[in-house]
Amino acid sequence: TKQIYSFSEGNMTMRDLLGGKGANLAEMTHLGLPVPPGFTITTAACHEYQQTGKLSDALLAELNQALMALSQQTEKRFGGTSHPLLVSVRSGAAISMPGMMDTILNIGLNDETVAALAAFTHNERFALDSYRRLLAMFGNVVYGIDEAAFDQVLTTVKTQNGYHSDLSLTVNDLQSIITAFKQLYLESGRGAFPQDPSDQLLAAINAVFESWHNHRAQVYRRQNNISESLGTAVNVQEMVFGNAGADSGTGVAFTRNPATGEPALFGEYLLNAQGEDVVAGIRTPQPVAVLQEDMPALYEQLVETAAVLETHYHDMQDLEFTIEKGQMFLLQARSGKRTPTAAVKIAVDQVAEGLISKETALLRVKPESVSEMLHPEFDTADLARQTPLTKGLPASPGAATGQVYFSAAAAKQAAENGQKVVLMRQDTSPEDIEGMIVSQAIVTSRGGMTSHAAVVARGMGATGVVGTHDLVVDAPNQCARVNQQEIHEGDWVSVDGTSGALMLGQIKTTPAAVKGELSTLLNWAKDIADMGVYTNADTPSDFQRALDFDADGIGLTRTEHMFFKPERLLQMRRLILATDAADRKDPLSKLLTMQQADFYELYQLAQTKEVTIRLLDPPLHEFLPHDEKEIQLVATQIGVSPDELRDRVAALKELNPMLGHRGDRLAVTFPDIYEMQVQAIMTAVLRHRKQGLEVQPHIMIPLTDSRAEMAWVRALVEGQIQRMQPETGAKVSYTIGTMMEMPRACVTADQVARESDFFSFGTNDLTQLTFGYSRDDVGAFLPEYLRQGILPADPFQTIDTQGVGELMKMAVNKGRQTKPDLPIGVCGEVGGDPASIAFFEEIGVTYVSCSPFRVPVARLAAARAKL
Ligand code: ADP
Ligand code: MG
Ligand code: MG
Repeated sequence: TKQIYSFSEGNMTMRDLLGGKGANLAEMTHLGLPVPPGFTITTAACHEYQQTGKLSDALLAELNQALMALSQQTEKRFGGTSHPLLVSVRSGAAISMPGMMDTILNIGLNDETVAALAAFTHNERFALDSYRRLLAMFGNVVYGIDEAAFDQVLTTVKTQNGYHSDLSLTVNDLQSIITAFKQLYLESGRGAFPQDPSDQLLAAINAVFESWHNHRAQVYRRQNNISESLGTAVNVQEMVFGNAGADSGTGVAFTRNPATGEPALFGEYLLNAQGEDVVAGIRTPQPVAVLQEDMPALYEQLVETAAVLETHYHDMQDLEFTIEKGQMFLLQARSGKRTPTAAVKIAVDQVAEGLISKETALLRVKPESVSEMLHPEFDTADLARQTPLTKGLPASPGAATGQVYFSAAAAKQAAENGQKVVLMRQDTSPEDIEGMIVSQAIVTSRGGMTSHAAVVARGMGATGVVGTHDLVVDAPNQCARVNQQEIHEGDWVSVDGTSGALMLGQIKTTPAAVKGELSTLLNWAKDIADMGVYTNADTPSDFQRALDFDADGIGLTRTEHMFFKPERLLQMRRLILATDAADRKDPLSKLLTMQQADFYELYQLAQTKEVTIRLLDPPLHEFLPHDEKEIQLVATQIGVSPDELRDRVAALKELNPMLGHRGDRLAVTFPDIYEMQVQAIMTAVLRHRKQGLEVQPHIMIPLTDSRAEMAWVRALVEGQIQRMQPETGAKVSYTIGTMMEMPRACVTADQVARESDFFSFGTNDLTQLTFGYSRDDVGAFLPEYLRQGILPADPFQTIDTQGVGELMKMAVNKGRQTKPDLPIGVCGEVGGDPASIAFFEEIGVTYVSCSPFRVPVARLAAARAKL
């Protein structure tokens, strides 16, 4: 099979085979954009290489052919001594992994062709500059010589001559640098730099295939869930030269601002520079806006190219360009990494521009990005009191506070010890990836908005400030300075990724709100989704937050939380410890008053939205005192002797309380507790009715196992409701539903449904009981199960579709056999998890209910589940 495709043969749909870079280079070639010619060696060839450890003869033959074709097309010859052809060898996997694998430029140069290039271009300095770059890159990537060794040589020459920039290097300097670089090869023990261009090419291809397995690429894949088995393609492309003089340069641009989403060309470039100079943060690049003054025609061309690409790809693009002697070339385009904020703004703007549909917009924003956007912001008042130490470029928005570390390793270590860390460096490189992943914020003293640090921070949704010029980072001594102020390892700083400000100390944060484009996007999600999104709220303030996030109502309010305030706890204790009905009367009536007020307030907030109230669930002994001190105190409070109290506590103690005397089992043994709760609900409802708000109560029974049990509790609840129905006027309509959290209830759901007006899956208990994992104790073994791959994910975070999910599916189907329109919700932890939500949509769940902060995430996930 064919293992090499020229750029004019491939296209965008061939990503898997040609990698993203190769497929896009081909696509841009077809679009008529100025792409230097070249060809792509397929990912299939990479697989073969991974298996055999060498390039096959068939591949070598094809490679020869492809090189010959490239020679013809460019009218240059690889290894030729008059018009030498130089190429780059570039990695490129199907899923973009920026900077993680290797690329080598200027392949084909040697002692002879460098002279030919100098003669051909009448520019010796440029030819030598290209050669020293090849020597350094090749030495590092192929021979594994430390990059720092090459840097050291360069720095020494620069310091000796008092140069500030690489641009000052003369022909003589470059010659001596080249000699020193070649010496490094000899000292490496791997042999001299290979003079034969063909040897260089083959070694470079091998090295790029090998780079698939380098450590940082593996870390990146793990972090981004990219399969190890994909492999990389290799692109071989004619070199164009951004380092050919002052009318040349190289840059990167985004068709829109990747930090904010603003719809304007955004990017940076460096004149007289090559390849990675811009992103490596070696010199601080100019914003592309300056190009508009430097080279207006080229700037126009870039703007037009951006428009062509966006119209073609229907998405924001990240492009790499090089200018050689006033002529523009495109070297790469891909859909650009962006912050969550930018993702949302771009998606919404592009719908308005008619570039994409609302559905596509919803698919462009990952539900988790919404959660990142709702990360706290600095408290405005507290922020206003601060004087920033200094300001850098606002590379990635966010408000982060943490302790400073100056190396990726130290940051990683500190994070493992549970610290919140801020990584502070001169600049970052792909080697730092592990330290960056764990950091709240990344701060660099050098580099621009497209530097490695900036790109990675945006990609991870971490706060990022780069190019902070007043900041002097002295990593070896683990400190940094701004003017006279020193910052030491472990010091607290606060970083404002929106303004670029760096501040000492910890600044207060406040929760963010849904506004602007995010609220537009979430409204579309609401229109498109079938599933409703409710919230689990136990207090009015929780509920208010969820309402601010546009929750459809309350899917679960856990009434027991209302009993833990001190004066209520006391009444609850009196109730539990009472020995006869007469003694229970007083605490019951006190609790009734308090609960009634709680429910009244919730209904007040909810107005016409639904509120589902679950009756008491936890085991009674949770309300009782445990240690001796508490026993003494409570005994006096309720007027019994400590001995009596101790006996009662002991009697209520259970070996497996979570499998014990709780939920509706309490109703059977202590019916007056549920009766009191229902009375409180009805009193609140009737009060609202009198004031004109038609509240309908939804009452949920926890822990049901069977139809008979549900029938018993239902009769209890209905009896109480009947007693309270107004004598005159309209009857209050109500629903009584079952928590589905016992496997037995799922299996007999057709029967349970006869007594239930709705189901709501309590996935926490259902998972606990299906696996037989005590959810309060899983910490002891679950991490190991995940590490060993015995479990694919924590089943308390993401629904176990095969086991628990199958039970749910059975319950849905059986329940609807009995009642075709039975409303079915999910109110466990996984109700806010996007992957689980996709599964719930599939099995026909009516709504999910989750914690307030997950409501927007769930809303987007519910819409995406349908698309
Ligand atoms: P990465 O995947 O890490 O971005 P690339 O393969 O894109 O690596 O190469 C990095 C940079 O090298 C490019 O942005 C470009 O500036 C430069 N480069 C690659 N190929 C060529 C070429 N044929 N001519 C000029 N510059 C090139
Ligand atoms: Mg690139
Ligand atoms: Mg439960």
